[in-house]
Amino acid sequence: MIIAANFKMTHTKKQTEEFLEATSKFIKDENIKNRAIVFPPFTALDRYDYQNVTVGAQNGYPKESGSYTGEIGAEQLEDLNIKTILIGHSERRHVIGESQEFIASKFEFFKERGFFIVYCIGEPLSVKERGIEATLEYNFAQLEGIDLNYPKFIVAYEPVWAIGTGVSATNEDIEEIHAKLREKISRPLLYGGSVKPNNIEEILNIPNVDGALIGTASWKVEDYCKMLKTKN
Ligand code: PEP
Repeated sequence: MIIAANFKMTHTKKQTEEFLEATSKFIKDENIKNRAIVFPPFTALDRYDYQNVTVGAQNGYPKESGSYTGEIGAEQLEDLNIKTILIGHSERRHVIGESQEFIASKFEFFKERGFFIVYCIGEPLSVKERGIEATLEYNFAQLEGIDLNYPKFIVAYEPVWAIGTGVSATNEDIEEIHAKLREKISRPLLYGGSVKPNNIEEILNIPNVDGALIGTASWKVEDYCKMLKTKN
């Protein structure tokens, strides 16, 4: 299983260092086989050297370097030995306003540089309410321009209405969508959206769920470690 933590805009550098240290120790002490990936904010990235925790970037601009104020390019990420990136997160799509075309160009750019990509898709509530066909169509449109044969990427299905709301999708919803995604994608499929210590086990038991991408509930290291131990 892949258990990924998205810190979003929480945790300072020091808090991140303490989190990573505690997580790495936990993985070693408890013989955790599940894969840990942590996405801290940019200000907490560094040249970390953990063998058992992958540290990735929450975002990146599809250029090596240059005049893109406020952005971070491949040169800066690679300088810190960051080779894992989150692309297409719903907050980038729906809050920041990134288009599918731009997201696909990011995917292509970081693919060419050999990054491991955690690629997010997911429908808003208004689409879910229109039924399963509309939901699938919306999610498949978010795969447009994405090389599904790239061997170093995984998909996180994260319904927008379940992110940060405390209300996860039902097991039936997750099973249905993941089964349809599996017909197109052979790479691991994560579920994300209000995963927490008390629901992660049942979610990881759903067919075609290969892990979880966790926001809010991953921010406390004790909870993240508890979830890392699930289905180990
Ligand atoms: C996320 O931001 O990817 C996420 C799944 O958030 P949360 O766990 O808080 O719903």
